[in-house]
Amino acid sequence: MTGIDQRVAVFEGQLKGAGLRMTQQRRLILRVLAEADDHPDAKGIFTRAFAHDPTLSLSTVYRTMKLLETRGAIERHAFEDGVSRYEHADQQHHDHLIDVETGQVIEFSSDAIEELQRRIAAELGYELVRHRLELYGRKKPTGARKSPKT
Ligand SMILES: [Zn+2]
Repeated sequence: MTGIDQRVAVFEGQLKGAGLRMTQQRRLILRVLAEADDHPDAKGIFTRAFAHDPTLSLSTVYRTMKLLETRGAIERHAFEDGVSRYEHADQQHHDHLIDVETGQVIEFSSDAIEELQRRIAAELGYELVRHRLELYGRKKPTGARKSPKT
């Protein structure tokens, strides 16, 4: 079993646990979701799945993803562009940096940040349960910059 097959199996279990019948279309959506290693929105998932099954509707995709989110199998992110993006929940904790020009989502993790957040929470009398951190940035121009001639 590959990691992707395993993920599909977990997703299937979640849907069955929610009392949902496994249909060909739902299975297709689960596979597309399991294969995604970026942060697609529902339309992105739909477009990828639609290529395999042109009878698929966007609302089926929405419903399936909502269920998976409720069951904790996928995680939803609402970055500043207002679009809900998803990723599977079975990965190491990480934070995101969003390129404000291209919308590209870059994953990173930092022990220093994790530690700092725990410390801040502790100083406020809290035990940190979870956090979300989003950085928004613009790529610095590459290459040597010439200083203007005088
Ligand atoms: Zn991510």
